[in-house]
Amino acid sequence: MFGKRIKLFTLFGFEVRIDLSWIIIAVLVVWSLAVGFFPFRYKYLSVETYWLMGVAGAVGLFLSIIFHEIFHSLVARRFGIPMKGITLFVFGGVSEMGEEPTSAKVEFLMAIVGPLSSIAIALGCYGVYLQASSSGWPESVDGVVQYLAYINALLAAFNLLPAFPLDGGRALRAILWGLRKNLRWATRVSSSVGFGFGVLFILSGVFQFLTGNMMGGIWLFLIGMFLQNAARMSYQQLVIRKALEGELVHRFMKPDPVVVSPSTSIQHLVEDYVYKYHFQMFPIVEGSEKLVGCITTKELKEIPRGEWAHKTVGEVATKCSAENTISPQADATQALSLMARTGSGRLIVVEGNRLVGVITLKDMLKFLSLKMELER
Ligand SMILES: [Zn+2]
Repeated sequence: MFGKRIKLFTLFGFEVRIDLSWIIIAVLVVWSLAVGFFPFRYKYLSVETYWLMGVAGAVGLFLSIIFHEIFHSLVARRFGIPMKGITLFVFGGVSEMGEEPTSAKVEFLMAIVGPLSSIAIALGCYGVYLQASSSGWPESVDGVVQYLAYINALLAAFNLLPAFPLDGGRALRAILWGLRKNLRWATRVSSSVGFGFGVLFILSGVFQFLTGNMMGGIWLFLIGMFLQNAARMSYQQLVIRKALEGELVHRFMKPDPVVVSPSTSIQHLVEDYVYKYHFQMFPIVEGSEKLVGCITTKELKEIPRGEWAHKTVGEVATKCSAENTISPQADATQALSLMARTGSGRLIVVEGNRLVGVITLKDMLKFLSLKMELER
């Protein structure tokens, strides 16, 4: 779901990042405010003023979303759930949890503070707007503050929909979880509701599009697709997490991975390893199992073809990073998170500086499907 992320700043110890997709949205927001929303509501301002209002509105929206997410993170931290930071992406923000909430109560509180903080901003902005219009502030300021009141109310309303994984859906899951003490069932029900809302959004998007509201229709359609996808993924993730919980990496590990010696030439590596095994990364091992580095196809691309014959792997290798290595004692869910984050389906298993094996997504999934079949 995430593409390239840029770190912006740290707030209360949480790293705030934006996904590149957010930049596109920011441009769209500024544009639609400056040429649509503000000129429609305030007829006699200059073009420059509309653009300034558009930028101010988008910055305000951006800060509002951070405010909303920060509250999720603060509550999570209060209950000891490690938070990895906040990422703003196409449809708002996501607070990244290191773990799932520990109890129904914690999940409920964590979910509900988000919309509550948006309602608080909406009310605050509405108060400022009333004050501003009675004391004759410039229309441009008036307009931006009114827009922020409106958009935050909309954000709160949208997030309160009982559509998992939106905040309202998380609150619903927490209530169901508390009632029946069964997280899996609660997740299945609330993500089905989320999926249903996704379908509703898509259908109304198509309807709006066909009846002439093209822009609105496209927005609804995209939100519906996003919701549907997120609901399905969250349920799958939970099922996988539950099944893998407590299983250690060494259980899935294959003990003798394909390795390359430091004296191998690049030519040889490409012809006899990369084209043969189709892996994107090879561990470089000296002697029988001493890991000296890693080489990735990304690094190979940097080397001019003419040098392939007389350069060795040892000369261009880099140290293996935390992105492609894992300990045999780590939890399998950790391996899964790492794979999800890096997009690589294969990690090398390292103990100290010894290479002990390799773990692949394929083997983990095979294990999962067997486990689910036997324990159904
Ligand atoms: Zn939220």
